[in-house]
Amino acid sequence: MKKINLIQAHHASLSQCRLCPDMIPPVIIGQAVQAEILLVGQAPGDREGEIGRPFAWTAGKTLFKWFESIGVDEITFRKQVYMSAVCRCFPGKNPKGGDRVPNKEEIATCSQWINKEIELLQPRLIIPVGKLAISQYLPVNKLVDVIGQSIKKKINGVEVELLPLPHPSGASTWHRMSPGKALLGQALALLAEHESWRKMQ
Ligand code: SF4
Repeated sequence: MKKINLIQAHHASLSQCRLCPDMIPPVIIGQAVQAEILLVGQAPGDREGEIGRPFAWTAGKTLFKWFESIGVDEITFRKQVYMSAVCRCFPGKNPKGGDRVPNKEEIATCSQWINKEIELLQPRLIIPVGKLAISQYLPVNKLVDVIGQSIKKKINGVEVELLPLPHPSGASTWHRMSPGKALLGQALALLAEHESWRKMQ
């Protein structure tokens, strides 16, 4: 079977997943693309369900503004980058404000899907967005330790380059203030130079 057919079959199974009792469907999936870049978000927010695609609301607007600043618009990005996440369903609201952060069990349960994606895609570049996504692949105490760096690592037997980005959520000021602003600029500059990114131009 062709790789693209395997990715489509994977999407069909993933969209039916209801393994986590506290997660709110639908499962949010990006386009079934045979990509060498894999973006890993945290989990969808409350608006993504009705719109039906990841990073479809305010955080997405900021994220795509960053990418546009290095030459790739949203439509091109969605067509050429595989958009994944640590958890693929909306976790619900946190009574104290914001969205609930997925718990360890949910993260472990949902990891089977992203592991399958890494196996299928054999990506060259992984862009984890936000601390939760970054921490699945790198030990991260503070964002300043990893943003603005490109790290080579073997993940599930695949040699990849990790290029972490901060979360573009409006609730976070990290990427708008020093030193986050400069480190984000450094990370975007590295991304713009990456061979897989340049192929999208
Ligand atoms: S979060 Fe992941 S594992 Fe849990 S129900 Fe949604 S798709 Fe399935």
